[in-house]
Amino acid sequence: MLAKRIPTILPPMTFEESLETTRIHSVTGLLPSETGLITTRPFRAPHHTISDAGLVGGGPIPRPGEVSMAHNGVLFLDELPEFPRNVLEVLRQPLEDRKVTIARAQMTLTFPASFVLVAAMNPCPCGFANDFRRECFCTPPQIQRYMSKISGPLMDRIDIQVDVPAVPYKDLAGPRQSESSETIRHRVIAARNTQLRRFFDEHIYSNAQMGPRHIRKYCVLTPECEKIMENAVTKLGFSARGYDRILKRNRTRGCATVRVTIPQKPMPFGLPRKRNYTTKDVAKVLGIGADLLRWRIKTGKYPDAQRGSAGRRLFTIDDVVTLNALDSRRGQ
Ligand SMILES: [Zn+2]
Repeated sequence: MLAKRIPTILPPMTFEESLETTRIHSVTGLLPSETGLITTRPFRAPHHTISDAGLVGGGPIPRPGEVSMAHNGVLFLDELPEFPRNVLEVLRQPLEDRKVTIARAQMTLTFPASFVLVAAMNPCPCGFANDFRRECFCTPPQIQRYMSKISGPLMDRIDIQVDVPAVPYKDLAGPRQSESSETIRHRVIAARNTQLRRFFDEHIYSNAQMGPRHIRKYCVLTPECEKIMENAVTKLGFSARGYDRILKRNRTRGCATVRVTIPQKPMPFGLPRKRNYTTKDVAKVLGIGADLLRWRIKTGKYPDAQRGSAGRRLFTIDDVVTLNALDSRRGQ
């Protein structure tokens, strides 16, 4: 039920994403004739009887599979352990590379496959292992066999794993206090916009698509955070992939809410972080009165600044830095 709500909080597709997704759907011939461009993110939920070729693509003339049909959208696998292990294992390549390569004698084809994988599973075959009100009759070997359908490497590629306990009756029936999808979607869109701006000339759209090079560039840790991470990696035995995942996830959390783990550089002159500063703010930095600053700007005492930014009433942080440099040059 939770997974079915995911499309309602997905951000709208960018034009490039729409083109990519439409191209794949049109290759399979599944694009409805009246549809020009797919503008809503795909949500694909294949049944667990699907073959590996159906999932990643294949056939004598290779066709894109569900992972490519879900490109720029969501691939939902319900009852994950019910999928045959060989089918799940083929997911590893697209999850890692965000594309699928199908080799045939005559040709090798590559389809894009950048999707959000959402999977659901029970804690045991009967489903009551973590429910304190119902008794679970599964034997430990049964549970082990059930869990072992999902390999460690596949689990390692799933960024967020949440234990969802049964909902108590009073929460089911009581008045709903929960957030609406609309509100959450606004937050998602804001976070996505931040990421689009961040990766403007990187040819990727989101934090999830960051490669090791991007992670080194955009997820710089403070010395304290580095120490915490070093402790976590050595004591809890995280894999390199796990380490990258934590950085990416916290970068994303930073986009949606306050930045906790990865702070930005402090502002110069001990100024608060703002889009614009008033004449009063700038005057304080320069150590002069606001009226004197206004008069100096008006009478062209800051010739370089006069032409551009400082002619305005509000100043960006770059203006403040320029004005300060001009002022100290004047003082010499
Ligand atoms: Zn059970």
